[in-house]
Amino acid sequence: MKKFDAAIAGGGVIGSAIALELARAGLQVSVFDRQQPGQEASWASAGILSPAPENPGMVAMVPLGKASIALYPEFVAQVEEISGRSAGFRPKGTLEALFSQDTKAQLSTIIALHHGLGLKAEPLRAEDARELEPALSEDVEAAVLRPEEASVDNRALTAAILEAAKRSGAEIFSGNAVKAMWREGNRCAGLVLQNEKVEAKWTIIAAGCFSATIEGIAQYAPVRPAKGQMVALRADDLEIDRVLWSEKIYLVPRNDGRIVAGATVEHAGFDKRVTAGGIEKILSSAIELAPGLANARIEETWAGLRPDSPDHLPILGPTDIDGLLMATGHFRSGILLTPITARLIREWITEQRVSADWDRFSPLRFSAAATDAARHAPA
Ligand SMILES: Cc1cc2nc3c(=O)[nH]c(=O)nc-3n(C[C@H](O)[C@H](O)[C@H](O)COP(=O)(O)OP(=O)(O)OC[C@H]3O[C@@H](n4cnc5c(N)ncnc54)[C@H](O)[C@@H]3O)c2cc1C
Repeated sequence: MKKFDAAIAGGGVIGSAIALELARAGLQVSVFDRQQPGQEASWASAGILSPAPENPGMVAMVPLGKASIALYPEFVAQVEEISGRSAGFRPKGTLEALFSQDTKAQLSTIIALHHGLGLKAEPLRAEDARELEPALSEDVEAAVLRPEEASVDNRALTAAILEAAKRSGAEIFSGNAVKAMWREGNRCAGLVLQNEKVEAKWTIIAAGCFSATIEGIAQYAPVRPAKGQMVALRADDLEIDRVLWSEKIYLVPRNDGRIVAGATVEHAGFDKRVTAGGIEKILSSAIELAPGLANARIEETWAGLRPDSPDHLPILGPTDIDGLLMATGHFRSGILLTPITARLIREWITEQRVSADWDRFSPLRFSAAATDAARHAPA
């Protein structure tokens, strides 16, 4: 029987980054993926690194996002050095364009919200925004520049992390689906694969939106897939330097000249089909934001499945079963949250303490909520 200090279910960006951290801390680590690792959400993503909340429900995640983006430059440098591969990190800021008639009020609300959360944001007049990013539409009325935000080529990053984890001693097993966690009394003894068991002192579930399909995990990680469709464009006569947002869309420039546009958010089960309606929505919003894109070539379309949790917040940390940890539910921010997730899981395993408050993200919050609801339900 294979025996490790830590066994990880899932080799996306989260599982592989945890493997890298633990291997560098001197642990014997294994990653089991049911297919080639790194081909699900981590491959499909846009790679924007933005801790700004998209809605009030996401405010709880801001401190984690800020801590993670602060780790990014060092994290990328380490991954690139060990793997010998580029991660396509672009620390160039992001620019949110406003079209509305009521831009003045909207602008001051956005700026105040960011400053209240300790996030850097600068108001820009339309002409200043267009000077920075000439591709922006003439109809843009104002903008918000978030200079500390960034982007990364998530496909390149995930491949680089996997390579760095391997070179640091982690064993990666492709085509090895995890069926269940191996429970012995109140202890998790490792993972159950199709035809064998793997023994580990620590077991980490990082199987993205598929985590709840592993036997014994749904109560800790009741995640479901949230489909996102994407388009990659190439425009020879148009330059975009920063990530651009409107209310409807984002455009993410890559180092190789591609512009990635996305994304839809659909709860459609595990379906990854690209649809005419989805792509139409993305393309019309992209052209509204940067009209020159009307002449761009469509290079690729795809869809991926984000790991969404009931409160849309990540699921991180130990469970009430000894040795069993969750690292999933990162929804729309898994690339942003990769360095902090890997660090916190490593700290917990090697030091039994963590350097950031992660109680809000506990895997026990769903069973606690269920018990609470049952207690307050009318008899
Ligand atoms: C369209 C789209 C756009 C996005 N944009 C952004 C963005 O701009 N910024 C950002 O920060 N985040 C973004 N995200 C979210 C981010 O991509 C995810 O949160 C992140 O990739 C999740 O990583 P993961 O490793 O948990 O999951 P995944 O990458 O899905 O990896 C899970 C792995 O587990 C494996 N697996 C599944 N079941 C089993 C099993 N039973 N046994 C073994 N292995 C198993 C899978 O094969 C897979 O390799 C986006 C996501 C999508 C889809």
